[in-house]
Amino acid sequence: MAIRPKSPSGRPGVWSRLNSLTRPVDPAASAALARRWSELPDAVKTPGQVLGRFALGCEGTHGVFPKCDFACTPCYHSSDANKVRVDGAHTLEAIEAQMGFLESARGPHAHAQLIGGEVSLLDAEDHAAAIAVMRRHGREPMSFSHGDFDYNYLERVAVARDGTRRFKKLSFAVHIDSTMKGRRGMRRAPDEAALAPYRRAVAEMFARLRREHGVRTFLAHNVTVTPANVDQIPEIIRDAHGLGYGMFSFQPAAYVGDERRWRDDYASLEPDRVWAKIEEGAGTRLSYEVLQVGDTRCNRTAWGFYVGDTWISLLDDTDPRDLAARDALLDHLGGVHFNAPLHLLIPRLGRVALRRPSLVPLAAGWLGRVVRRAGGLRRLMAERPVPVTFVMHRFMHAANVKPAWEMLGRGVMSEDPTILETQERLLACSYAMAHPETGELVPACVQHGVLDPDENAELAQLLPIPRRRSAPSLA
Ligand code: SF4
Repeated sequence: MAIRPKSPSGRPGVWSRLNSLTRPVDPAASAALARRWSELPDAVKTPGQVLGRFALGCEGTHGVFPKCDFACTPCYHSSDANKVRVDGAHTLEAIEAQMGFLESARGPHAHAQLIGGEVSLLDAEDHAAAIAVMRRHGREPMSFSHGDFDYNYLERVAVARDGTRRFKKLSFAVHIDSTMKGRRGMRRAPDEAALAPYRRAVAEMFARLRREHGVRTFLAHNVTVTPANVDQIPEIIRDAHGLGYGMFSFQPAAYVGDERRWRDDYASLEPDRVWAKIEEGAGTRLSYEVLQVGDTRCNRTAWGFYVGDTWISLLDDTDPRDLAARDALLDHLGGVHFNAPLHLLIPRLGRVALRRPSLVPLAAGWLGRVVRRAGGLRRLMAERPVPVTFVMHRFMHAANVKPAWEMLGRGVMSEDPTILETQERLLACSYAMAHPETGELVPACVQHGVLDPDENAELAQLLPIPRRRSAPSLA
């Protein structure tokens, strides 16, 4: 049937609107993916590459609330970050500009991190408003926090003063590890095990929000990895995987940010060593190439779920049938907005299936194999599966990023192997930050390693911390 674009009244006709609402992929999203793919270096255009085929990658805010009330070692924020006062009006204005730019320059929807300092220092109203701004620009926001706030704060973010639920779903990433200093009740943790009650308490706050207000949450757990805690990774995972965290993300420390907070020999954190510790915690090999996000020297990701204490991968990289399912996913479902409401997502997926009926048995076969790997339907019914993704994200040292970025600006690839690797990774970056004032998108490594110091120095002038006035003399 031909689709009529306009009704006689001049407004789009009902069929036209229905067609556009149930179209599996927004043409702007297809164009954004194609653009991203064309920009990627050839070396990362692997069969499992997600960027440019399935998703654009992640985004983050910067310079919107640089201040933090913790003192972590290391800390990626520049030394001036704590001289900038938290100011809700500035936060909202900057987020509006950055998200608007991302929507127009990068693509209609993406995951974006509400990050840049400690988000819970924002007034709860401003925090909620920031999430709403990001959603309005097609972003799926995730608030980054140390998690050291009370339930009352979380509730005020999620629920308006008149008791109306603001959001059906909230995403938070909570950073809890022994490199941090300042947590109430444990200013400095002697080791990761000492933080187990805090991991539990944070997860319980979000479970309570779900129980009391019906707000679904996605909760990620972040850990900075240093030589001091790398061997404790397995213990963190084993203790916390059943608490409700849907992601465990480990970031090996890099020499970036505030130099006064650098400790230890971060160069000793070889990626294979850290990943092996994550595998030890998961109790199984974790394939990170079956689905690859950008450059595997930056990111390793393994998607799966727990049944009891057993973690099961969604894709078995040794099974050609799973690889065929992976290929079909990337070829035919790339750009589908999976965060769309179900009443839109289901017809969109239905149209994909109608257009390519061969996908249906392929998907059914894959699902059957996953269920068998998990121990069968009976076990899955008895022990609720819990989705958990493992991530390792390796920021780069600022001393390498600076020359690499400067040379990329001149269109020159370095002959120095370290700087060349840095350039290749920057070109395949999966974590972008927006500069609407210059029209630039930059990798987060460039933001933290090159741009943050000047940006925070300027913000410290614009938003200085008010000096405390001395008490008047009564003499
Ligand atoms: S370039 Fe930096 S910010 Fe981008 S993905 Fe690699 S490590 Fe992450």
